[in-house]
Amino acid sequence: MTAPMDARTPTIVQPRRSEDRALPLIDAPVAGQRDPRPGLSGLSTEALREWFAERRAPSFRAQQVADQLWSGRDVSFAEMRTLPAGLRAALDADFRSDTVAHTSVRPADEGLTEKALHVLDDRRTIESVLMRYPARGLRRERATICISSQAGCAVGCPFCATGELGFWRDLSTAEIVDQVRFWSRRLATDGRRVTNVVFMGMGEPLLNAEAVIEAAAAISDPQRFGLGARHITISTSGVVPGIEQLTAIAPQYTLAVSLHAARAGLRDVLVPLNRRWPAEQVVTAATRYAHATGRRVTYEYVMIAGINDTPADAAQTAELLRGRLAHVNLIPMNPVAHTPWQPSDAGRIGAFADVLRAAGLHTTVRRNRGTEIGAACGQLAAELAAQPTPAAVARRRQILVERSAVALRGADASSEAAAMIDAPAVVTSR
Ligand code: SAH
Ligand code: SF4
Repeated sequence: MTAPMDARTPTIVQPRRSEDRALPLIDAPVAGQRDPRPGLSGLSTEALREWFAERRAPSFRAQQVADQLWSGRDVSFAEMRTLPAGLRAALDADFRSDTVAHTSVRPADEGLTEKALHVLDDRRTIESVLMRYPARGLRRERATICISSQAGCAVGCPFCATGELGFWRDLSTAEIVDQVRFWSRRLATDGRRVTNVVFMGMGEPLLNAEAVIEAAAAISDPQRFGLGARHITISTSGVVPGIEQLTAIAPQYTLAVSLHAARAGLRDVLVPLNRRWPAEQVVTAATRYAHATGRRVTYEYVMIAGINDTPADAAQTAELLRGRLAHVNLIPMNPVAHTPWQPSDAGRIGAFADVLRAAGLHTTVRRNRGTEIGAACGQLAAELAAQPTPAAVARRRQILVERSAVALRGADASSEAAAMIDAPAVVTSR
């Protein structure tokens, strides 16, 4: 067992098995120069005040800038006309008013879903998604933004498009916050606003914990973006020190844990971080968060046909979570390139949900949104990156089939799923 990582240091999870070294399949695009100026939206209110105090400017100037920055309008420093020209120039020398250089947006779901591809200063691309849920009954319209915390991801879950990209770099606080500001401005043009923010885009938020915690603080701070903490969800594949760091400050954010399997052998394959922090440790840490905050933890479970959707998997998941402050969200897998896997059918998902409910667990089934534009984050970026050869894709699929077959045999040699995954017909390249 490797020593636990400090969640505050940027971390690259090193592959342990020889075949992992073939990953990722996709070559990262060549990075450009970084702009050395930090983004202004990453500054705390105190830091912004200090900056003005150091320049002997009255403190109301800091408030003027904050008002413009969080106003929901697109404002460059040059347009901050209430400030003297000297201060505008000084701000421009030290900061960027926006860390997103360029954004292109693709609609789907008849305009209810929109996906943004943001280009950063160094030409790295990240993605964020807007999902609009029209008003229903007493429930008001919601606009949920799914944002990225890293460019790429080192965890390498095989069903995830971002996992295919590998890890490029951590995002700064401002780069995270500026995705929210982008959507806020866009929604404001037709009188709407962001109602929920979920850290479920590219990257593992708790492997970039410091920037993510600062960004969530900026988003929920009434003096800055001002979204209620209960409307923010941080999703993690199971970084125990990061969960502990969150527990220590006990915010009202929803913690989502990507479980996807209860059994170690299978979770090792589906969420490779399990080899470092096994599911039991993750669930124990998440339960402490639930008790510290009084907030139920959401357990995400991507349903993959014949892999993790068997009655035995349902029983093991129920056993792991029974009696905990938990809500289970079953998500049909969004098909991605490079895997031989498909989403479970509705019958399988329903039967799985029944087992969990019988164990007293609150369980819902999520409909995938934006599948047609690749709303599983990482898909647009993957399209832009250099594509792997068909032979490399076929080899990758073969590795996944072999690994999951071993994992499935570990559970129950006679299981229908093991027989299915063992069948050579499953190994096909597209
Ligand atoms: N790295 C974090 C947050 C980003 S991923 C995490 O893993 O929790 C957000 C969620 O999308 C996770 O639950 C992840 O497992 C899920 N996801 C990734 N690829 C998917 C796919 N192809 N279909 C459905 N859900 C997927
Ligand atoms: Fe990373 Fe989350 Fe994708 Fe896994 S599912 S590779 S942790 S972004």
